[in-house]
Amino acid sequence: MSGQIADVLCSTCNVPIRGPSSPKPTDLLSCPKCGVSGTHTEVMASVKGYSTEHVGGQVQSMLGNAFRGNKSVTFTPTATSSRKYQFIVKLDD
Ligand SMILES: [Zn+2]
Repeated sequence: MSGQIADVLCSTCNVPIRGPSSPKPTDLLSCPKCGVSGTHTEVMASVKGYSTEHVGGQVQSMLGNAFRGNKSVTFTPTATSSRKYQFIVKLDD
C-alpha cells in the first residue's frame, strides 16, 4: 500500500511525498509532482538536518534580540548554512 508520509514535504514543490506506509530504510520515497526520490534513510536525514537548522535559527534570533543594545556583548550570528534540503518537514511556528 502506498500513501502519504506524514508531514514530510518535497522542498521544491511543497507537497507531501509518497511511499510505503511503513517504509523500510531502503524503500524509496518520492515526490508525486517532480519525481525526486530518496531512500527512507536519506529522507529522514534531510528532514532531521532541516529541522535542526530551523530550530537553531530560532534560538539564534532570540539570542540576538536579548543582546541587542547591550554594548558589552557582541553577538555575531553564526553563518546560516546554505545547504538545501530536498525533503523537509512542516514545523509549527
Ligand atoms: Zn517535488
